[in-house]
Amino acid sequence: MFRYVKKGLFIIGVCSILYASSVQAEDDDIWIWPVEGRMTDTFGTRGGQHYGIDLAAPTGTDVRTVASGEVTKSYYSESYGNVVFVKHTNGYETVYAHLHTRNVKEGEKIKIGTVIGTLGNTGHSTGPHLHFEVHKGAWTFGKENAINPLAMLPDAQMVTAKETKTYTVKKGDTLFNIAKQFDTSVQQLKEANNISSADDTIYPMQKLQIENK
Ligand SMILES: [Zn+2]
Repeated sequence: MFRYVKKGLFIIGVCSILYASSVQAEDDDIWIWPVEGRMTDTFGTRGGQHYGIDLAAPTGTDVRTVASGEVTKSYYSESYGNVVFVKHTNGYETVYAHLHTRNVKEGEKIKIGTVIGTLGNTGHSTGPHLHFEVHKGAWTFGKENAINPLAMLPDAQMVTAKETKTYTVKKGDTLFNIAKQFDTSVQQLKEANNISSADDTIYPMQKLQIENK
């Protein structure tokens, strides 16, 4: 904000329209997170073969473009599943994979925050999550331009990986008494473990992730 104020003071009296457009341009450079979720994997894991970050959330959660731009690809791939690619004005390209649904078409111009689809489990994916990639320049098959998305996304308490501990279910446990024991709620337990809202079944020896407060 201070940067804008300084810039504004400099430009005020010269041209107020110029000021407005300069603020607009700066806003385009500030990205948003593509989904509200729990980070389950980071960039560069799997022997350097993981070129993005994974954000887990329930199937059907809105997935948004991190900045304005143009949809370069929207299709189904065997590995990415339903996937959307967006080219941004600053030359970056972002990739949103394993989507449940795709809401945009190739060539469509979209604004920051546009819902490009919903989070899913399509393609090579073992649970509902968004696989999100950032490429400095165009996406390539070899992914040479991939960079760590965390370098581009704003710091946010919501989306930094929450610390979790593992709890092994004992005979006679219920989601309710486990939630009570760890001072959390049944719903939070279900979300952290991708248990559907209609299902309360847990079994002995099952490993549950408990989010630390
Ligand atoms: Zn991934």
